[in-house]
Amino acid sequence: MSFCEYTTQKDLRIRSRLLGTYKSVIFAAVLLYMCVILLTEKRYQKKDSVISSVHTKVKGVSDADSRIWDTAEYTIPSPGGSSFFVLTNTIKTENQKEGNCPEFPSPKTICSQDDSCKKGHADPQSNGIQTGRCIQYNSTFKTCEVRAWCPVESKSNPEPAILGSAENFTVLIKNNIHFAAFNYTTKNILPEYNVTCVYHKVTAPQCPIFRLGDILKEAGENFSQVAILGGIMGIEINWNCNLDRWFQSCRPQYSFRRLDDKVVDERLYPGLNFRFARYYKNQDQSDIRTLIKAYGIRFDIQVYGTGGQFSWFELVLFIGSYLSYFGLATVVIDCMISLYWKGCCSATSGQRYYDEQKYEEIPGPCILTSCQELRFVSFVDQEDIIMVDKRLKGSLQNTIGKRIKKGKMSANTVLAQLELSFFEGLEDLPLHPRSAKKSSAIPSWCQCLKCLPATAYEDQLCCRHQNGECITNSEMFRKLVLQRRALERILQYNNPLLNKNSIAKKQLAECARNQYVQWRFGSNKDTVDFAKIPNCCRHEIEHLFNDDTVETSMQSASGPSYKPLLSH
Ligand code: ZN
Ligand code: ZN
Repeated sequence: MSFCEYTTQKDLRIRSRLLGTYKSVIFAAVLLYMCVILLTEKRYQKKDSVISSVHTKVKGVSDADSRIWDTAEYTIPSPGGSSFFVLTNTIKTENQKEGNCPEFPSPKTICSQDDSCKKGHADPQSNGIQTGRCIQYNSTFKTCEVRAWCPVESKSNPEPAILGSAENFTVLIKNNIHFAAFNYTTKNILPEYNVTCVYHKVTAPQCPIFRLGDILKEAGENFSQVAILGGIMGIEINWNCNLDRWFQSCRPQYSFRRLDDKVVDERLYPGLNFRFARYYKNQDQSDIRTLIKAYGIRFDIQVYGTGGQFSWFELVLFIGSYLSYFGLATVVIDCMISLYWKGCCSATSGQRYYDEQKYEEIPGPCILTSCQELRFVSFVDQEDIIMVDKRLKGSLQNTIGKRIKKGKMSANTVLAQLELSFFEGLEDLPLHPRSAKKSSAIPSWCQCLKCLPATAYEDQLCCRHQNGECITNSEMFRKLVLQRRALERILQYNNPLLNKNSIAKKQLAECARNQYVQWRFGSNKDTVDFAKIPNCCRHEIEHLFNDDTVETSMQSASGPSYKPLLSH
């Protein structure tokens, strides 16, 4: 890694009206979606949830059950704060004293004789502890006697509810809220509010005074029905605040819901009730009490909501998170291209051209195998280049490698070389003396009969894969690789001030090898750097440009010692 460089991707521009249209359509769709989300969800805002406090006041008076019911009678304050209870129905049992009396009749307590009752038994549902006697409850039933507060409570609910008129009571809800992130405080009661108003969904949606009957009606309930057994109602206050300076709005929205189970099934203990007692002292100083089983409606107030305010940070975050969707166009179009072409049975010329332009193929690197070595081999009787990337365990000639396509060669270079060579005419080249007089001297791996024995596996490479004529016998080899005047011209082409007479044989040999590699492997630098020259060709070059400074082994396993000259 360096601070002085920057890496970026190279892109391929495809000239196609159709693909361009697809791209534009996808871009437009993504942009539209992004804008819609940004504006409707207000994603440019920083959000904070509401903190709130609630206070309630119930008002109303009623005359029922030959008694005046005022606020103190029918509301029971709840310590929770954000809920209030309004009593709607009662079962009152007056003048209860501790003593023995018959239990309230039920299948479990009805008896015919003393044996049915068990002394000391107390059922969780019962009012007292059984004494073991069976006594008359009324003219029809006999029940087990219990030690309890007598007389025991009757279990029938008064219908209609005693305080059915409570639907006309009103409640004032005071709700203060705060958004800590924006240090913004407000309340549901506006300064200009009218103390005589009553909430109505359409005509007075901001009035903080609610008629209890209206609350149940809004929730789709019947007050006189719910009043008999009681219930739980939810008053939801939703603060959806936009705190942007230019578009500020922060008013509550009220909605109502029944929170408890509507089903009236005795086994599920429907409704809402609890008991309480008021105690007095009798004249003989014994306790006497009035037991009240109270049914009523509890109203739970739930405040929720979010406030939002414009934030550059959120906006940048949003744009950043949606930018990746523009990449969708590439994925979709690439998919379309490959799906469309995969449908054809064989590759068309257009597809081959596209593939060649778009994809550059390289063999995979060897992972987990011991292949620190790499070389490329070219046989005159095979079109492809062979890549051998493993440690040699025999002659390079017979080692199996991967076939890869021959690199593209720049046409100019080929032509320049050809022209140069042919212009000179053919020299009378001294050919390498054949050692073939003794056929035993030809190594087993040689297919062209011109290679010399070599000990290193790396050097055991022929110019051919199958038996046949050696490449060194070809006119092209002599013109491109061996012709001295051509090589001199190439050296001068690269170094114009080079004196022809001062060119060392070593330089010529190197140039010749270079010529061979470019000719056979193409001008792809990666391939050229790791190209292997066959044994026969190498000996031909060495023989021709032999002088004292020439090394006996031109190629070492570690890699080539020359650079391509004409690859620029
Ligand atoms: Zn050979
Ligand atoms: Zn050969």
